[in-house]
Amino acid sequence: MVVILEKNAAPEQIENVVKHLEGFGFQIHKSTGAERTILGAIGVKPNFDIRNISILDGVEEVYRVTTPFKLASRSFQEKNTLIKIKDVEIGGNQVMMIAGPCSIESEEQIFKLAEIVAKSGAKILRGGAFKPRTSPYSFQGLGEEGLKLMRAAADKFNLLVISEVMQISHIELMEPYIDIFQIGARNMQNFALLKEIGNIRKPVMLKRGIASTIEEWLMSAEYILSGGNKEIFLCERGIRTFENYTRNTFDLSAIPVVHKKSHLPVIADPSHATGLRDQVPPMARAAVAAGADGLMIEIHDDPEKALSDGPQALLPDTFIKLVTELRLIAQAIGRTL
Ligand code: PEP
Ligand code: MN
Repeated sequence: MVVILEKNAAPEQIENVVKHLEGFGFQIHKSTGAERTILGAIGVKPNFDIRNISILDGVEEVYRVTTPFKLASRSFQEKNTLIKIKDVEIGGNQVMMIAGPCSIESEEQIFKLAEIVAKSGAKILRGGAFKPRTSPYSFQGLGEEGLKLMRAAADKFNLLVISEVMQISHIELMEPYIDIFQIGARNMQNFALLKEIGNIRKPVMLKRGIASTIEEWLMSAEYILSGGNKEIFLCERGIRTFENYTRNTFDLSAIPVVHKKSHLPVIADPSHATGLRDQVPPMARAAVAAGADGLMIEIHDDPEKALSDGPQALLPDTFIKLVTELRLIAQAIGRTL
């Protein structure tokens, strides 16, 4: 249920409404905007008479949120969520670029690629240290050693760091090295992990599950939001369909759908969505045109020798050229990049 307070509602009136809602057993999430306060009252009470609240002083409107996700919905928060990390903004007018290798492989590799990322104008370096591989015999990542190398490379080139967290026991270990936690497609519905991430105060990128609907994806964001961690952005990375020319099917319309249904920023990952190097630039361009708040792109200087996802990695020169094209597309729709 959403309770919209009057523009000039006094703090005591707001407190009184909160007290009533808590008395009825609701859990309250307050969203204080420039103009007015909105209360999200969470609790499953199908027979609750909303007039109990609409008659209180200072209340303008009360309505039930019909979507199963509440805190993630546009009706709870009309304004876009803006995440600020140092001088980088996610969800603002600037389209934010994340790039780097699929996996951190060596000191030489991550420093070389960090330099390319910085040269392109991208602000965030990606790299997996704990890899979710389909085969247990494939390269599993360098672990903490990899995170140390990536942090050092990012610091040298003034970049932020994002890396995937696969299990609860790694959260504490990873925290000092990274700026953003990535929840991968395979863990989108690992509810125990989502709850733990909800309890921390560090931005999170939540990737869409391999076979998840947009509603299921937003429900996973709801897990994190309900724990109190509000700094979430989503990442469309393709879904499994009957088409098998590409690794996954890039669901481009998920971008405007998320923007309509939710206030959370949404970015696109054309690398995992297509799995093929030559398909990455066109899908990246389409994503920016569709309004994506950012992109995450895998790059490698020697893709044939990459320890994971070589076939989808862009070569440095192609990547730099792509960013210049994306900048023009962003400008055409009134954004910067
Ligand atoms: C990744 O970004 O490193 C990754 C493994 O992606 P996904 O979880 O989307 O498969
Ligand atoms: Mn990858």
